[in-house]
Amino acid sequence: MRVLTEQQWHWYYWGKYLGYPSCCIDFFVENAGKDWWMDKIYPKGFKFKGSGFIPCKSCNKLPEEQIIKRINYRRKAPVPFPQEIDFEIEEAKMEEMLFKGELK
Ligand SMILES: [Zn+2]
Repeated sequence: MRVLTEQQWHWYYWGKYLGYPSCCIDFFVENAGKDWWMDKIYPKGFKFKGSGFIPCKSCNKLPEEQIIKRINYRRKAPVPFPQEIDFEIEEAKMEEMLFKGELK
């Protein structure tokens, strides 16, 4: 089993808090930090660019409305995707949920 770094856990829990699909979180955690990955995997760009969410390869092929629905169904943050959250305010809430074991 692979051990995640602290940075990777950070991404993982933010992904959960923001309601991102598990496949996309895993994909991001696996690849982020490799400086070449974006251009190589998404030569034509990807959906929701600039939102902070990067879909995995298969989710990137889904209709946008379907992805938005999936994300908002699981989302813990108070504003619906793809609206931006205030990370400074949300971080405390995210950490509290994490501490209580509510972030799954
Ligand atoms: Zn996905």
